Amino acid sequence: MDSAAEPREYDLDALRQRVLLERGGERSSSIPQLAEADPDLCAIALALPDGTVHSSADGTVPFSIQSAVKPFLFALALADTDGAALDRVGIEPTGEAFDAIKLESDTGRPPNPMVNAGAILTCALVDGDSPDARSERILAGLSRFAGRPLEIDEDVARSEHLLGDRNHALAHLMRAEGTLTCSADDAVAVYARACAVLVDAEVLAVMGATLALGGVNPITGERVVSAEIARDTVAVMATCGVYDGSGRWMRAVGIPAKSSVSGAIVMSAPGALGAVVISPPLDEQGTSVRGRIAAEVLSADLGLHVFG
Ligand code: GLU
Repeated sequence: MDSAAEPREYDLDALRQRVLLERGGERSSSIPQLAEADPDLCAIALALPDGTVHSSADGTVPFSIQSAVKPFLFALALADTDGAALDRVGIEPTGEAFDAIKLESDTGRPPNPMVNAGAILTCALVDGDSPDARSERILAGLSRFAGRPLEIDEDVARSEHLLGDRNHALAHLMRAEGTLTCSADDAVAVYARACAVLVDAEVLAVMGATLALGGVNPITGERVVSAEIARDTVAVMATCGVYDGSGRWMRAVGIPAKSSVSGAIVMSAPGALGAVVISPPLDEQGTSVRGRIAAEVLSADLGLHVFG
């Protein structure tokens, strides 16, 4: 395209119809609720600085946030530790899968907050003197990013906690290294509940917009985190948000993003907007197949590539 299209007038339903023709990818089999997700759920949403939200069909169908929660957990941990979370978790891309059993060899820290080890730790850094208190605080913080009260799908939380063997392994490893100080089981329980928060494409787009717009929610006008925390979080999304597919993503899409096993991808286009694409079938890196295609088209049509 010669000039960028106007987000308000963009035909999101036409793009949705186009990507629905793509039949590739597999749903996550990590928990029954994801294995049984509707493979043809497909939604695209944009949240703009003026507080308007534009979405395709399926824009208000609920799904569990899964790893799309990780940028917001990092931001909340930075806020609650006055930035000291940056000493407890690295910010380097791993080139490995989201649940790789690996910590930084010299420090024992998780490599970055966008992989599971890092998110289990950031959950533990949020204020609260018990797992329940931390979980409550995370839900309240996520709700401020969203601009409305969010809820947890308790069945998904239970499955995540019971079946997340690699997450339990990571938490025990971090305890052995002295990086995690609370009980391993408590840490995984809080992380499991954070992954089980219910969102839809529209509300997740508002959360992405809050980060893209310097930490201020475009609907409520509330400052949720400082501009510095929002900037740091978006920077780590850009380098680590799509796991071992982050380099490929930044070249082709060029919007800081976080993928998730529910098939949602939350994007924060700095200074411009928040966007979400959700469709459950995933590629080998755990990125929604249709989501990637839709994001590439959106980025090109709306002129959102940060190096564009
Ligand atoms: N809850 C998932 C897990 O811990 C999140 C992974 C993802 O969404 O990439 O395995």
